[in-house]
Amino acid sequence: MLEDKFGRRFHYLRLSITDVCNFSCTYCLPDGYQCNSDRNFLSLDEISVVINAFAQLGTSKIRITGGEPSLRKDLPEIIKLCADTPGIEHVAITTNGYKLPDHLPSWIAAGIDSINVSIDSLDPRMFASITGHDKLKTIINGIDMALDAGIKVKVNAVLMRQFNQSELGNFKDWIKRTPVTLRLIELMETGDNLKFFERNHVSGLPIKQQLIDEGWGQIVRGKSAGPAQEFRHPEYLGQIGLIMPYGKDFCSSCNRLRITAKGKIHLCLFAEHGIDLRSYMTEQDVDGLKQQLSSLLSDKEATHWLQDGYTGATKHLAMLGG
Ligand code: SAM
Ligand code: SF4
Repeated sequence: MLEDKFGRRFHYLRLSITDVCNFSCTYCLPDGYQCNSDRNFLSLDEISVVINAFAQLGTSKIRITGGEPSLRKDLPEIIKLCADTPGIEHVAITTNGYKLPDHLPSWIAAGIDSINVSIDSLDPRMFASITGHDKLKTIINGIDMALDAGIKVKVNAVLMRQFNQSELGNFKDWIKRTPVTLRLIELMETGDNLKFFERNHVSGLPIKQQLIDEGWGQIVRGKSAGPAQEFRHPEYLGQIGLIMPYGKDFCSSCNRLRITAKGKIHLCLFAEHGIDLRSYMTEQDVDGLKQQLSSLLSDKEATHWLQDGYTGATKHLAMLGG
């Protein structure tokens, strides 16, 4: 098992397969995707080396992300590659869901077992103004299909003062009858969004207190659980998870590593730089990659410095997959 010098164990890989995205979320790619670099993303063969190396080092869960991962035509093959690799027990995807009803059957056939779908507002007009696309209805239909098929669904909503701060009630009404986990994510500062961040960041702490006051109980975290704080309520089918990266001890439960669509590892979402491992992938050198990964982990820092405005190399989360 991959373990760092602080005793954190890494059984979860976030694998980005493209940094292209068709949405233009206000906090991520407000001007849309800018094609100012080549699109030489990892091939299936290269991805296979990554997955095998991580699986042999104890990774049991892979989340496929992007940019928008469903823009890659070979996504079902990538899912299957993950699902068929010995040791990989869970294959998930994070998506904007713009064609979810069309895409879902092939993802399920390939072996996906959970999806995270980003929905920052349940008001169609607000959703369109945040993302640039009037797709809310399609996405909700896709979520209903996934639930009917027994796929676990989490819905990611980034908290933004000027956009969706008054929507918690709408979200709660929805999850009362819909068995999804709503993940309320504190807006993170990135290299490109400083002004937006200053205007829109809201802390999740008052929401946590509000949930507790309303009778939501905090779920005790398993030893290998990630940094989300999760809550349930007897009258609700859905649950709520709070992701508060500015909170105390957020990094102590870090259990994930990130590989970019061009084969770099980022030891932290806000690392100073990515480390290029592509040559191992191109040369199909699983053992070399394993050795390199194990030795790199000694460089993983205890925490990010986001609270001091240090965003490392991360201009926006589309380049890393969040
Ligand atoms: N395109 C896919 C999507 O939106 O689900 C996958 C990639 S996206 C970068 C992954 C997640 O990161 C999304 O849920 C998105 O809302 C979140 N995200 C992006 N930028 C963020 C930021 N600055 N702060 C907090 N979350 C952010
Ligand atoms: Fe695209 Fe996801 Fe970023 Fe929105 S959050 S612009 S959907 S990568």
